[in-house]
Amino acid sequence: MVKIEHIGIAVKSLDTSIPLYEKLLDTNCYKKEEVAGENVRTAFFKTGESKIELLENTASGGVIEKFIEKKGEGIHHIAFEVKDIHEEISRLKKEGFVFLNETPKRGADNKLICFLHPKSSGSVLVEICQEIL
Ligand code: ZN
Repeated sequence: MVKIEHIGIAVKSLDTSIPLYEKLLDTNCYKKEEVAGENVRTAFFKTGESKIELLENTASGGVIEKFIEKKGEGIHHIAFEVKDIHEEISRLKKEGFVFLNETPKRGADNKLICFLHPKSSGSVLVEICQEIL
């Protein structure tokens, strides 16, 4: 793993949370992007080497809606950048980790992404991501 690429935070409303995080981090949101397949709208902030990704639900029954119903707003996942996502998937599978999706899919912010099942990663939803060059 190269570094923590970003931390994903589930929010009820980007309109409310973007100004909050702009004040908190003293930096402007630099990108908003909808990921239609995931039913989320995202907003990104840079904090040095790492980023904060805010996630808002866009369709009834979406994963962020379910998360907020269960746990409320807050930290949703931690994303680690990897050099080669396919190599990392086979390494992690050999180590016994289970994936929610074993085939990398296109995520926000120009990334190929995979999620590990939290049951195999200490109840933490872990994303691994590789920049699409
Ligand atoms: Zn993410």
